[in-house]
Amino acid sequence: MTATSTALPPGVTPAPEQTSSSAPIPPSKPEWPMPKLLFVVEDMACPGGIRVFQALDNPASFLQTCIINIYKLLYTKKSVPTNIRSITFTFRSMDGVAYTTGSRLDNDHKEIHFSTNYISNIDASRLSHEVQGVLLHELVHCFQQDGKGKCPGGLIEGIADWVRLKGGFAPPHWKRAPPSKWDDGYERTAFFLEWIEQSYGATVIRKLNECMCEEYEDELWKTLTGHSIDSLWKKYLHEYDAKATKDAE
Ligand SMILES: [Zn+2]
Repeated sequence: MTATSTALPPGVTPAPEQTSSSAPIPPSKPEWPMPKLLFVVEDMACPGGIRVFQALDNPASFLQTCIINIYKLLYTKKSVPTNIRSITFTFRSMDGVAYTTGSRLDNDHKEIHFSTNYISNIDASRLSHEVQGVLLHELVHCFQQDGKGKCPGGLIEGIADWVRLKGGFAPPHWKRAPPSKWDDGYERTAFFLEWIEQSYGATVIRKLNECMCEEYEDELWKTLTGHSIDSLWKKYLHEYDAKATKDAE
């Protein structure tokens, strides 16, 4: 009905047409792809199972925040992978700390297994920090590139701990003292990556990860920093020694 077809009393304005306000609003597209997250605690009543819920106030919010932070450190919105469809977090009794794997069906569904035995033995004062730090490390493995299998294992673990370090989840036992090799892995390589980032720009590690979508070769370091990996490692050791000497004076 329109205003021209019906006589209205003076001063009364016609009601607006209803078509636009009743039209469904399309859902806004999420800024970053978010896989479905599944959370399984196999034995809620075991000491480690009880502590899972003490360590994580709001697991969904924490894990989604971690995933977005990983995207921001390792990708741009153009390069971010969209194939990961789900991640299942399983807390169960097992040896070791945690590991990540593709599901038995396909690699687009990831599984993170976390030991409740390990969780039951974490010092109470560090419970949340440690559980969250391990989850962040394992989540990196769900999304990082590996140069189609050519990336050194120590660099894979180093990148995961570099993200953990940047997230503020470095445990107190991590030491900056350099190891014998640059790709010794874990926090030992993570501190080296942090130094590279501080020396050669905030996007170097992100670009390295993006290049590893296709391949890995040591030559990548030269392309990204202007220096070979051996030269970077020597510079790092030299700067570390110089600082240690200065600090001791
Ligand atoms: Zn790892």
